[in-house]
Amino acid sequence: MTSPVWHPFTQHGLGEPIPRIDRAEGAALYTSDGRRIIDAISSWWVTTHGHCNPRIMAAIARQAQTLDQIIFAGFTHEPAETLARALVDILPDPLAHIFFSDSGSTSVEVALKMALGYWRNRREPRHRIVVMEGSYHGDTFGGMSVGERGAYNRAYQRLLFDVARLPFPSPGAEQATLDALDAICRNEAPAALIVEPLVLGAGGMLIYSAETLSAMRELCARHGVLFIADEVMTGWGRTGTLLACERARVVPDILCLSKGLTGGAMPLAVTVATPAIYEAHRTTDRADMLFHSSSYTANPIACAAGNANLAIWRDEPVLERIGALAEAQQERLDRLSLQPGVRNPRRIGTIVAVDLNVDGSGYLSSSWPALMTHFRERDLLVRPLGTTIYTMPPYCIDEQDLDRLYLGIAEAIERFTTA
Ligand SMILES: *Cc1c(COP(=O)(O)O)cnc(C)c1O
Repeated sequence: MTSPVWHPFTQHGLGEPIPRIDRAEGAALYTSDGRRIIDAISSWWVTTHGHCNPRIMAAIARQAQTLDQIIFAGFTHEPAETLARALVDILPDPLAHIFFSDSGSTSVEVALKMALGYWRNRREPRHRIVVMEGSYHGDTFGGMSVGERGAYNRAYQRLLFDVARLPFPSPGAEQATLDALDAICRNEAPAALIVEPLVLGAGGMLIYSAETLSAMRELCARHGVLFIADEVMTGWGRTGTLLACERARVVPDILCLSKGLTGGAMPLAVTVATPAIYEAHRTTDRADMLFHSSSYTANPIACAAGNANLAIWRDEPVLERIGALAEAQQERLDRLSLQPGVRNPRRIGTIVAVDLNVDGSGYLSSSWPALMTHFRERDLLVRPLGTTIYTMPPYCIDEQDLDRLYLGIAEAIERFTTA
């Protein structure tokens, strides 16, 4: 019997049956037919401390006894107030105003609306958004508009709004990116630049330097252009620090966080703004307010999960765990790099990626289904981006699982590359 479920980023009829997961713990997923799958991509980049973390699960269960959901316009509640205060404490100054929503895409939409609202309310309307080539900011129309155009949004392309694009600052070509940004800032008076700091995730785990990030931030500041950091993927330790921006000593005007905000247990996002952005919306005119809400804005149970995540960051040696995982992966990456057929081996924090030397790359590469089958046969949740194989495991993964994972990757390289 076929299921009525329509899955995301899935071509039904190809690659079925779809495994059914009954239970998850740590870095492991357990299927209904008794298999144990290693979650090497943190269930699409969300799970940080591991699945079913006891502290987060307990916080959810506790909160579910008292307050499930409440309209967040005109009402407030303790889990949201506590989380907002804890976020302001842990985030760099002057990031001080927390706007809640429920997904990374929505946090980006809110960031864009904050930036455009800022300029409108200063009676100096600006509409141009600057983006980086290869970026991904979500699958809503605003997110798609500021993201890379490709196979995954071709059908909607004509309705996406126009943006100014910077070339990706690959090593040696950083100056071209900075020059392009400088020219756009001078000639087009853009409202904002939005970037994924240090690593473009869905664009293929492409890493660029902290110096470039910091120079882009400085250029924006110099020209009065707002700087939006989309840390939906990079936040919560993925690149080795709480935020990727930290590594470049950059503080954005607007920051997007989601995915690991609840440790990956519940859908929740925040868009964090500086006082300048907030104050531009706080006039005596109701027409100047930020016109945005989702039904589940600041859902109390999701906020309770967020508070448990922050407690883990406060009480447990999370950064040490991340450092150890980074090191353990680097050793294994060094060995992989010796294999013929590997191109561009790279790592930032806990994220590792290699490109395979195969004919035909890109998201719809013909090698992709075979690669997926390869990993599925080995009970590994690895989901290559085209012919880029990457790992981004939960921080609790152990050495034994890492060995199994890297063996599977080594075998894939051997099987699928043309050397
Ligand atoms: C995943 C992601 C998003 C979108 O988040 P969703 O929760 O899937 O809507 C936005 N930006 C970046 C950088 C992401 O990695």
